Amino acid sequence: MFQLHHTFKLDAAHQLTQLAEGHPCNHMHGHTWKVRVVVEADSINEETGMLIDFHTIKSACSVIIDAFDHKCLNDECEVLPTCECLARLFYVMLKAELFPVRLAWVEVEETEGNSVRYGE
Ligand SMILES: [Zn+2]
Repeated sequence: MFQLHHTFKLDAAHQLTQLAEGHPCNHMHGHTWKVRVVVEADSINEETGMLIDFHTIKSACSVIIDAFDHKCLNDECEVLPTCECLARLFYVMLKAELFPVRLAWVEVEETEGNSVRYGE
């Protein structure tokens, strides 16, 4: 089994209005979100020696960067802009972009040490 990891960063703001008014995340604020994408395969293309070209996976991730970088996630997402919902949203977006390569999971890190991993 091979697993290939690609990590990129995304600067974006969010506000979690579903939380109590006194909660710090109820105020508009920003993060440099770290997104880790993992694809997997039982075998590689022996001619190229690769599972997938890193340039291909980087290019697929640009759909997320184009949609959300330097934006307010509350305005741009149709889901609550929590780590959990973003991980699931990014997974769905990338699964379509990367098909037929198998997407194992997407991890979204909001702050150092606080992340959510989503896979099916
Ligand atoms: Zn936050």
